Amino acid sequence: MKLSELFNEKKPTLSFEVFPPKTSDTYENVKIATEGIAKLKPDYMSVTYGAGGGTSEYTVDIATNLLKNYGVTPLAHLTCLSSTKDKITGVLDALKENGIENILALRGDIPKDADADVKREYKYAYELVYDIKKYGDFCIGGACYPESHTESHNSADDIRHLKEKVDAGCDFLTTQMFFDNSILYSFLYKIREAGISVPIVAGIMPVTNANQIKRICELSGTYLPRRFKSIVDRFGDNPDAMKQAGIAYATEQIIDLLANGVNNIHVYSMNKPDVAESIQKNLSEIIK
Ligand code: FAD
Repeated sequence: MKLSELFNEKKPTLSFEVFPPKTSDTYENVKIATEGIAKLKPDYMSVTYGAGGGTSEYTVDIATNLLKNYGVTPLAHLTCLSSTKDKITGVLDALKENGIENILALRGDIPKDADADVKREYKYAYELVYDIKKYGDFCIGGACYPESHTESHNSADDIRHLKEKVDAGCDFLTTQMFFDNSILYSFLYKIREAGISVPIVAGIMPVTNANQIKRICELSGTYLPRRFKSIVDRFGDNPDAMKQAGIAYATEQIIDLLANGVNNIHVYSMNKPDVAESIQKNLSEIIK
């Protein structure tokens, strides 16, 4: 199923994200974790793409397994910065052959050791969106950043580039994680004003590991509200308590979003079936 059809139904959706293994020796464990999440029958599952693209076959394999053996609609991520046009066409062929209809088109991060002299075939995600659109018959998503992308000088520039990306052919956008819903509400207001009208999927990260989240937030520039910081400070050293508090915080965020008309929720479940299941249970009467 194309996700654009799902979003058109205008009903609340709950989806989960998984990531592929970095090396073949962890493939089986990752596969078991993704299958544990698939058994929850979410509306769809996204499968991320390894930063350099070197493990692209795992994204296709896992997405195919979700679709063929569990009947879960997959959303395959695809990055372009470290890729060539030929390689991208190869991945699109593989996705099409396996019946995968949804792609999240991304630029990817600039590698720290990037060689400025290397001629790259892609610079920004909108170029990939354009190529996928030209290839045909995929539902295409893009990433967006309620607190602006770290490389952007200001939010007006970021939203202007986002509009160009949507105009290149995005059918929907998924947000970077955020911990303060008011940031998303003000972002939604600004992008609607800028003429971006595609469905927005809110990306929610249940924080279950205090150290990891501090690092991720430093890199992504995500704002940590005082209420959230207190939870991390108080429970960060106790993994079980942190997990319970992180799931509760994410659940509250999701309920507030749904109550305010943000219908599509994507949980960064990080290959943790127990976390995905807890969130789904917490919402069982809210999202049926
Ligand atoms: P772009 O849309 O190209 O934007 C990147 C920057 O360039 C922004 O600052 C934008 O304002 C600017 N820009 C865009 N167009 C122009 C232009 N024409 N002129 C000047 N500036 C411009 N990474 C992975 O490696 N694998 C994944 O699976 C993955 N999944 C992700 C999923 C989500 C939901 C999100 C939010 C991010 C994900 N990322 C992933 C990270 C992503 O690759 C990085 O955030 C990357 O730095 C930007 O990717 P983008 O697609 O948003 O890029």
